[in-house]
Amino acid sequence: AAVDNSPAIVIGSGYGAAVAALRLGQAGIRTLVIEMGRLWNTPGPDGKVFCSTAAPDKRSMWFRTRTEAPLATFLWLDVVNKDIDSYPGVLDRVRFANMSVYVGRGVGGGSLVNGSMAVTPLQSYFAEQFPTVDTAEMYSTYFPRARSMLGVNSIDPAWFESTEWYRFTRISRKHAQNAGLKTTFVPSVYDFGYMQREAAGTATKSALGQEVIYGNNHGKRSLDKTYLASALGTGNVTIHTMERARGIRRASDGTYVVTVDRIDDTGAVVETKEYGCTYLFLGAGSVGTTELLVRARAKGTLPALDAGVGAGWGTNGNVMLGRANHLWDTVGENQSTMPVMGIDDWANTSNPVFAEIAPLPTGLEHWVSLYLALTKNPERASFTYDSATDSVKLGWSAAQSAVSVSMAKKLFDRINSANSTIYRYDLFGSSNKVFADDFTYHPLGGCVLGKATDNYGRVKGYSKLYVTDGSLVPGSIGVNPFVTITALAERTMARVLVEDTAP
Ligand code: FAD
Repeated sequence: AAVDNSPAIVIGSGYGAAVAALRLGQAGIRTLVIEMGRLWNTPGPDGKVFCSTAAPDKRSMWFRTRTEAPLATFLWLDVVNKDIDSYPGVLDRVRFANMSVYVGRGVGGGSLVNGSMAVTPLQSYFAEQFPTVDTAEMYSTYFPRARSMLGVNSIDPAWFESTEWYRFTRISRKHAQNAGLKTTFVPSVYDFGYMQREAAGTATKSALGQEVIYGNNHGKRSLDKTYLASALGTGNVTIHTMERARGIRRASDGTYVVTVDRIDDTGAVVETKEYGCTYLFLGAGSVGTTELLVRARAKGTLPALDAGVGAGWGTNGNVMLGRANHLWDTVGENQSTMPVMGIDDWANTSNPVFAEIAPLPTGLEHWVSLYLALTKNPERASFTYDSATDSVKLGWSAAQSAVSVSMAKKLFDRINSANSTIYRYDLFGSSNKVFADDFTYHPLGGCVLGKATDNYGRVKGYSKLYVTDGSLVPGSIGVNPFVTITALAERTMARVLVEDTAP
C-alpha cells in the first residue's frame, strides 16, 4: 500500500513541472512535487549559494570528483576543469554512448544553470514541428502567458552598444554582417536592470562575475523565484527534494504509485518510499521522463504505453565552436555570461542555422568568438531499456552529430571567409577538434506530443497520466527551448484542469 497519498504528484521541478505545480495548486488540488536535486537556498562557507565557473567546487556538479565543463581545454591546457568533492551539485552531464546531455539538478531544474535566453520560435517552424497544435492560439495566448510568467525582459540597446561587457557580441555581430548575415537580439530572464547595476558597481556581480552554468547568485529569474514561488504560495503545493522517482505503476483502483529513492549527500539511497496519487504529471525533463516511461513499459508496470514512448529524440542540432579573431578584434577581458544575440540564418532553406553568440568569460583577452549553433538537423534517436543497468540507452550515433557539424560548418565557413579568420582548435579537448558535437544543452523528445501522448500531453494508453516537459518537443525547435516548453505546459494545464479534474 502506498505510504503517502496526494491528489496529484509532479515528478521534477523544471519548466514543465513548475507550470503543472502552479496551475494544480491554484485549482485547489493538493500536489506533491518530487525533485532529485537540492533546494538551492542555503549559502556555503563563502556566503554564496552557488559557485562560479572560475572557481568550481563541490556545488558545481552532480556527484563528480572533477568538473566536466563543455569547454575542456584552453590553448590545449586542461585549465578549465577542476577536481572537486563529490556532492549533489547543480549541473549534471548525463553520458550516453555518443552524446552527453547537460541538465540542471535542483528545485528549478534547467532554470538554475541555463543561459536565460528566452526565445519564442518562428511561428512557421513551430507549426511545422507541431502540426496538430492550434498555432494561432499558442502565439496569442500561451507564448505571451509563458513570457510574462517567466519574467522575460530585453537588454537596453543603447547600453548594449556602449558596455564593455558585450564587446564580444558586437565583434561577432560585425563579423556576421561582413558575411551578409542577419543578427537579432534575444530576450532573457536575466534582469538587465540588475546587470546594469553590476556594471556600475552598485550590485554584487553575478552575470558579470562569471556565474552561469553552476548557478547564478543574483539577477536570474529562475523558476524557484517565479512559477515555483507562486506554486508554494497557493498553500497546496509541497516540494520534496533529494528524492529520485524510479518506478511508476498503476494500482487496481486506477490510481498511480510512484516508487522513490531518497538519497543523501553522498548519493546513497537512505530510504525507499511509495507515494500514491490520482493525477500524475511527468516533468523530469526529456531524459528523466522518457527513462521513467521506457522503464515502466519494459518492466511491465505500465504495459499499455504506446510504441512512441522513447522515440523521436534529438539534440536541437546543437554544436559549439570557436573562431579565432584578428589581434585588433579584441573580445574584451570582461564578458557577461548571458547571451543576448543570435545569428539568424534559419530562413536559408538550404542550410537553416540559428547561432547564439556565446560568452567565454575568463577575465583575460583571448580573441575567441564562441557560438552555440542550433542547426535544423533532421536526425532522431530512440531510448531503449537496459535491464543490466536498470537505465536507458540512447541510440544516437556519431554520424548523426556529423549532420549538425556540416550545417554549422557551412555557416561559419562563410563568416571565416568574409573576415579572413579561422576556427579555434584548442577548446574541446582532443587536438584539432573544432566542433563540439558530443554534447547538447537542449535534449528534446522521447515522448513526442501527438505520438506518445494525445494532442495535450495525456499519455496514450492511460488516463490521468501526463507529460509536461521537453520530451514533448520532437527533437528540434530551432531556438533555445524553455519558452516553448513552458508555453506547451500552460496549454496542457489549461485543458486538463477543465476537462479531466471533475470535482
Ligand atoms: P528540466 O528543466 O531538465 O527539469 C527536470 C527536473 O527533473 C530536474 O530538476 C531534474 O533533477 C528532475 N528529475 C529528473 N529525473 C528525475 C527523477 N527520476 N526523479 C525526480 N526528479 C527528477 N534553454 C533556453 O531556452 N535558453 C537558454 O539560454 C538555455 N541555456 C542552457 C544552458 C545550459 C548549460 C543547459 C544545461 C541548458 C540550457 N537550456 C536553455 C535548456 C533548458 O534549460 C531546458 O530545455 C529546460 O530546462 C528543459 O525543461 P524541462 O521542463 O524539460 O526539464
